This record gives sequence, C-alpha cells and structure tokens, in this order.
Amino acid sequence: MTDSSSALTPKPWISGIAPYVPGKSAGADGRPLIKLSANENPLGTGDKAREAFRASLASADALSRYPDPGSVELRETIAAKYGLDPARVICGNGSDELLHLAAGAYAGAGDEILYVRYGFAVYEIAARRVGATPVEADDRDFATDVEALLAAVTERTRVVYLANPNNPTGTLATRDEVARIHAGLPKNVLFVIDQAYAEYLSAAEDDGGLELAKTEPNIFVTRTFSKIHGLAAERIGWGYAAAEVISALHRIRLPFNVTRAGQAAAVGALGDDDFVNASRAHNATWRAWLTQELESLGNHGVRVVPSATNFLLVLFEGDVSAETVYGRLMDAGYIVRWLPGQGIAQALRMTIGTEDETRGLAAAVRAALAG
Ligand SMILES: *Cc1c(COP(=O)(O)O)cnc(C)c1O
Repeated sequence: MTDSSSALTPKPWISGIAPYVPGKSAGADGRPLIKLSANENPLGTGDKAREAFRASLASADALSRYPDPGSVELRETIAAKYGLDPARVICGNGSDELLHLAAGAYAGAGDEILYVRYGFAVYEIAARRVGATPVEADDRDFATDVEALLAAVTERTRVVYLANPNNPTGTLATRDEVARIHAGLPKNVLFVIDQAYAEYLSAAEDDGGLELAKTEPNIFVTRTFSKIHGLAAERIGWGYAAAEVISALHRIRLPFNVTRAGQAAAVGALGDDDFVNASRAHNATWRAWLTQELESLGNHGVRVVPSATNFLLVLFEGDVSAETVYGRLMDAGYIVRWLPGQGIAQALRMTIGTEDETRGLAAAVRAALAG
C-alpha cells in the first residue's frame, strides 16, 4: 500500500539548502596536495596548546567522562584575557555552532536574515535551516556597503551577520562603519559580528565590536580557535553578548558542545601570545609578498582584493580564467578555493602558507597564466 501524501519529506526550507563545501586536501586521484584552501595556520599549533591537549588525555577517565558542559575554565580564561564578564561568554562547537544558534534563537519562518553579498557561506545555511529568508545586500567592490546594508533592513529582519574581516573577500569594515551599522539597526535585530580573523588585525584595525558588545543589548561577537590559534581539528569557538542573548543561546545549544581536550587546548592557546604574535607577523610578511607578486601579473588581468586576513581573494579577469588557473594549480600540487558556488567564479581564494608554500604558489600561478 503506497500513500504518497505520507512519504518522508524534509521541510521545504531544508531541501532548499545547498550543502556547505569544505576546502579539499587531495586531488581527484587521491594525491595529497599542499592545502591552501581552508585558511588554516601554516605554522600549525602552538606548543602550549599542544601540551595542554596532551595533558588533558592523561587521566584514565579522560575519554569516558563527559566534558565540562559549561566550559567554565575556558570561559574564565577568555574573560580574563579580554576584560569580559565570564557569565556572558558562550563556547561553541566551532564558531559555526554559535552562528547557527543566533539564527535559531532569533529568527524563523517569515523572518529575514541579512548579510552582505559574498558573506560567509554559513549565513545562508543558518538562515534557511530555521525557515528564515536569507537576504543579501549589495557589496561595494567586494566590501561592505553600509548604506546598502541598512537599506535592505525591513520590519522582518531579525538577524544581521557581518564577518569582519570577511571570508571569502578578506575585506574589513572599519570601526566607524561597524558603529554606523549598529546605530542604524532597529533594537529588535541581533547584529552578529563574526570576528574569525580578529587576531590577525593590528590594534589600529580593531573594529570595536567587542567593546560595543560589552554595553549594547543586541550585539553578538563571535571568535574562533580554528584560525590563528591553529586548533581547527578540535572545533572550538566563543562568543560574547548581553546576558539575555547568552541565556537564549544556551537554551538551544547542545549540552556538551566542546570536547574536554578542546577546552584544555584552547586554555593553553590563550596563554601563548608568542605563538599568536609569530603567526600574525608571518602572515603580514607573506601576505604582503604574495599580494605584490600577484599584482605584478596585472597584465594578465589579475587583481587582488585588499586583505585583512590570512588569505587573498584573487580575481582573474584576463584571458586565462580562474577555473583554468585552479586546475593548473592542482596539477602543480596546490589546492586553493574556487568560488563559483558563492557567485565569484572569476576568483580564487588562496590561504597564506609557509614561506616555501607561498613562494611555490606564486611561481605556480605565474606558470599557470603563461599556459
Ligand atoms: C573559519 C570561519 C569561521 C568558522 O570557524 P569555526 O571553525 O567554526 O570556529 C567563522 N566565520 C568565518 C568568517 C570563518 O572564515
């Protein structure tokens, strides 16, 4: 007996989700590639984080007992480092979980979730997952256009996401622009400032989001241990907001969302300023070097979007397409990110690697353009 009306069917808004595509680390033939596709730290992980991770595994019940559901030591360490109230810090299974929680707590069917075109790919998925309508505001040459963003706010808008700096464009909205966005939003809109690359910024580039979150009731700042701290494998993120927002997010998060070893490693990472400073300095040097190398290929239609992150968005607007360069780089042993799914088929996103990797990548791009 068949009854098609009772067939198992996902919710229509779930079927409408295009799955997230992670950065690859091997070619189609399984050959390992130099992975410059996921914005990981080329220097690896700091010694203090590695030691704390190992130490957390030493006791006999390290694997059999649930981790601390409240991530208490980690929240207190974060709060002490950044001058925050530990009760208002929330930890997540990567900042990705926290971005999803924001949509889940504040938006649903009939609501809109707004972000800038070429925003982080997770935002559209987070919006659709809860049945909300994703809305994209126009960018300004790949960067945030404050006026266009505010003009796209409607009475249905419930959450605004801003990755700052943004992935995949690498662009940074200034402190003044972030303040103007916040000032222009209705009070019933949660402004999520996703600072996954904040630790790569100089003090002068700080967008002021964390300061605003200390006093404003509708700002949620998120950070991650996956990027400069080199702990992507353990999935640890954190966020800061008003107590009311944090309390709403706690209601819907998974009870044991951060592993024991992950919590320990993150505490270790926060005590390793030397590693963070070395990572930032390495990135600044090789980002500047790679930018200059690629800009010297301007006669081939190569353009580099100014980056505040550990990657470059590189546009190929000449005779050799981004797709062709992507394939030739793969043949040369390098995997970067081609972005047709995000509407930038003319671009490749390239993570800053080690010195050898970065020099090799520049040479491979040059060769790819020569044919
Ligand atoms: C990498 C990244 C994150 C997610 O990091 P997690 O590993 O989930 O903590 C969040 N936002 C942006 C913009 C990113 O690039």
